Amino acid sequence: MSGSTNDRPVLVLNAGSSSLKYQLLLPETGEVRARGLVERIGESGSDVADHAAALRSMAERLRHDGIVLDEVPLRAVGHRVVHGGPDFSEPVVIDDAVLDRIRELSGLAPLHNPAAVTGIEAARERFDVPHVAVFDTAYFSSLPAEASTYAVPRDLAAKHSIRRYGFHGTSHQYVAQATADLLDRPLGDLRQVILHLGNGCSASAVRHGLAVETSMGLTPLQGLVMGTRSGDVDPGLHAYLAREAGLSLDEIDMVLNKRSGLLGLSGVNDFRQLEQRLAAGEADARLAFDVVVHRIKHYIGAYLAILGGVDVLVFTAGVGENSISLRAAVTEGLEELGITVDRARNAARSQQARVISPDGARVVVAVVPTNEELAIARQTADLVG
Ligand code: ADP
Repeated sequence: MSGSTNDRPVLVLNAGSSSLKYQLLLPETGEVRARGLVERIGESGSDVADHAAALRSMAERLRHDGIVLDEVPLRAVGHRVVHGGPDFSEPVVIDDAVLDRIRELSGLAPLHNPAAVTGIEAARERFDVPHVAVFDTAYFSSLPAEASTYAVPRDLAAKHSIRRYGFHGTSHQYVAQATADLLDRPLGDLRQVILHLGNGCSASAVRHGLAVETSMGLTPLQGLVMGTRSGDVDPGLHAYLAREAGLSLDEIDMVLNKRSGLLGLSGVNDFRQLEQRLAAGEADARLAFDVVVHRIKHYIGAYLAILGGVDVLVFTAGVGENSISLRAAVTEGLEELGITVDRARNAARSQQARVISPDGARVVVAVVPTNEELAIARQTADLVG
């Protein structure tokens, strides 16, 4: 095998039920050798029957780009796993026992963990290198008990592992560090509120590098308004919908996960399309935008109180990194709290981490691109040495 360890890439896989995202990259430099997405896995009329076929399709595409996968000196494969439940607060090298445990956690993440298991199984067959699971929940294992505990009977909670787990942890952790790097301040000095706004959306409060609050909970449904998820609703809504609309629990779960959020309010789940409708003066789009902004402000206020003040407010992910109008609306009217953006800085387009508050502002407002694949690759490389 040629070259030093640093020349050996990590393959990062993110297996969904019908999709497989991949990236082949060097964790030290962040250099991406290849990336892509295989879709429609297992769907009728698709050539890609299962995750093993998806890996073959990935290999073909790489060959197309001049990369012969079997000749690549792979260091390891890093797998994104959504739910680590109460067991996993760190990345782990995957063996049969770990895989069984991830499978057993499917009750907590029925949409996500089974797909990850299938993806891991196929990848272990295909690549004889260490495989590492990196959990979306892990970063939030530091939540203090008062933040992670739901006020439901303790015996029921204990029996069924009911607590607030939080998700997007890999992103929040990466962005917390990247923000400290941007500001050239130690992570340990900062109180941060991080807004991860993509298709899925979550907020976190981070004190000295440790997450102390986050908006997602037992499942990724809680918290902010998302592309197709409702975020917070009255928990009484479930019983009400069952009684009044005659919906089954599975139907209610589906409505709140797949037909709510931006989609439910405006008819589109993509934020760019929402902005176009907004510009065209559509009332539904206006309301959707306002509800999104209101909910985000609600969490900023809560996290300011929990942290006892904030040093930096960070926007990340597709919407947070790109939507000038959303960042402007979220920060509007918060001057008394020390939060304000410079109009020109907010409007400047960039792919780089950057400060958008005026010089000397009490709270730094920053846009910091997330990079979950790089974070997974680094955690994988750290673990396998
Ligand atoms: P995921 O949660 O799937 O990783 P992303 O972080 O990629 O999602 O975010 C996707 C969202 O970002 C979509 O709603 C998309 O419309 C939005 N988005 C991407 N680019 C822009 C842009 N230039 N302006 C506004 N929204 C954008």
